[in-house]
Amino acid sequence: MDRQLEKQCFIITGGASGIGQATAVWLLDRGAMVAILDSNPVRIDAVRAEFGPDAARVFTTVVDVCNEDSLTNAFRQSTDYFGLPLAGLVNSAGIARNVGFMETGADMMRQVLDVNVIGTFLASKAFVASPRIPAAAIVNIASVSGMTGNTGRSAYGASKGAVIALTRVMATELAAYGVRVNAVSPGPVRTPMVDSIHARGFEARWTSRIPLRRYGQPHELAEAIGFLVSPSASFITGDVMVVDGGFLSAGVEATD
Ligand code: NAD
Repeated sequence: MDRQLEKQCFIITGGASGIGQATAVWLLDRGAMVAILDSNPVRIDAVRAEFGPDAARVFTTVVDVCNEDSLTNAFRQSTDYFGLPLAGLVNSAGIARNVGFMETGADMMRQVLDVNVIGTFLASKAFVASPRIPAAAIVNIASVSGMTGNTGRSAYGASKGAVIALTRVMATELAAYGVRVNAVSPGPVRTPMVDSIHARGFEARWTSRIPLRRYGQPHELAEAIGFLVSPSASFITGDVMVVDGGFLSAGVEATD
């Protein structure tokens, strides 16, 4: 068995649901220790219960990633709990809105940018300022909506485009700190977030544009995120790995 992640310590924002939770499971299955920083206390209690005996290797705390003081505290508590330097950070906390351009107000735009961009930025700064192993890594979660013009995504798409740009700047600057930085850019993945913004008819239209003809599952994203945050990806930084069933690659598909 691959033991390179045993007793390695990771922080996952948004780790109490969906893709973040699946990444926590992926890391725990490989012997790692995980801190879950999430704004939803009910989900935090639920995932702790789901981890069973693995919960001893999990630290959880309620955090708003938009709040710098709350993040600083959470990172300190996490490293105190582990008693070891951090190996990686996964920025999975995020919110989504499906609202037309003309219906998107400045408040909604600010709220989405605040969580998805400022939250990623602040958590990454807290990570770099924390005790770290010499070769550490950050994975940001972008989206195909940050790479193409899906309707209803003014706020969300703008935020994820910014996450991609931020990833590249961070990779360039943080190499000097011994920190690799990559992004994973998912297409639609079956999580509470997608269930809240994709209606049934909408889902059929998406699926018809995805060559693999289905939504992804959270564990399929965890495979990509886990790889990039682990030493297996030691020469990869500044990359945006698209995990979308072929959605972005597909052009027109002939039907007959
Ligand atoms: P999810 O809603 O299941 O999980 C997101 C988690 O983030 C939740 O537990 C939530 O409580 C937490 N969160 C939200 N705001 C927060 C805040 N201010 N501070 C701390 N935690 C906060 O969603 P998911 O689908 O697992 O999404 C994870 C990431 O993947 C997000 O960045 C999302 O934009 C991105 N993504 C998801 C999809 C998809 O189809 N599900 C596609 C592309 C990108």
